[in-house]
Amino acid sequence: MADRDGLIWYDGKLVSWREANIHVLTHSLHYGLSIFEGVRAYKTIFGTAIFRLKEHTERFFNSAHIYMMKLPYSKEQLMEAQKEVVRANKLESCYIRPVAFYGSGKMGINPFGAGVHVAIAAWEWGSYLGQEGMEKGIRVKTSSYARHHVNVTMARAKFAATYANSILANMEATQDGYDEALLLDVDGFVAEGAGENVFIVKNGVIYEPEIASALSGITRASILALASELGYEVRSQRLTRDDIYIADEAFFTGTAAEVTPIRELDNRVIGSGSRGPMTAKLQSLFFDVVNGKVPAHVDWLTKV
Ligand code: PMP
Repeated sequence: MADRDGLIWYDGKLVSWREANIHVLTHSLHYGLSIFEGVRAYKTIFGTAIFRLKEHTERFFNSAHIYMMKLPYSKEQLMEAQKEVVRANKLESCYIRPVAFYGSGKMGINPFGAGVHVAIAAWEWGSYLGQEGMEKGIRVKTSSYARHHVNVTMARAKFAATYANSILANMEATQDGYDEALLLDVDGFVAEGAGENVFIVKNGVIYEPEIASALSGITRASILALASELGYEVRSQRLTRDDIYIADEAFFTGTAAEVTPIRELDNRVIGSGSRGPMTAKLQSLFFDVVNGKVPAHVDWLTKV
């Protein structure tokens, strides 16, 4: 990733991609406290636009607030900076990665005084779980690792150290030949994917796990809104792994994963074993929305 052309917004300025570096004694590198976002810009029918820029930027500030990290920029400045990065790199559709981290001002667990830095990069990134997975569904394995308890690391923040848990789960699943991991909470109830929220469909009703120990996904929120507009009933409740085994349909949502059908969990075929009809409808509506084709939701898109 480091050796390529392009520009990265780094502490208020656009710098060349290869020069957007940090010192080896960067506090966040040692102790894992950085906060970040994953955002997408789409080539819409009215030009390139960022999907739910305001909500992602708000979550970025919430993550900083939870970890008591003082961001040296305003929401408006960081929203403008995200647009600037897309424009400066002449990207039509892309993934955007804002990150805030503690610098090399000091060592020791307490980060105050290490200095806070903010960077925003953007690059082209296609379907996270593969184009074939978008159509046929992916194979998922329940992880042997539990999702963090809400009082271990807090689930409302999108911060780096949480992802050691996601990485362990994803490595385990993919090394065993699956596409992604499903994590249960410490009580054994369904939490989320390694980088996605999860939904199932049973007898025409959509269910999602209570998000206690899961990230409050912005794609999830968008799908909840679209599902209710389609007249679907959605229930948030505790779900077990075998609720998913016997579901008619299942799918993941996330900025990177978008809406990805799940065709198998732990070698049990879900429903017909392919993308289910309600998943297909939501997925297609989601792509119409992000491409600017749904007038009721153009307010979710910010032109760059
Ligand atoms: N859960 C986790 C652990 C994630 O990393 C992500 C991706 N940010 C999600 C859920 C989905 O969130 P969003 O739809 O906001 O991208």
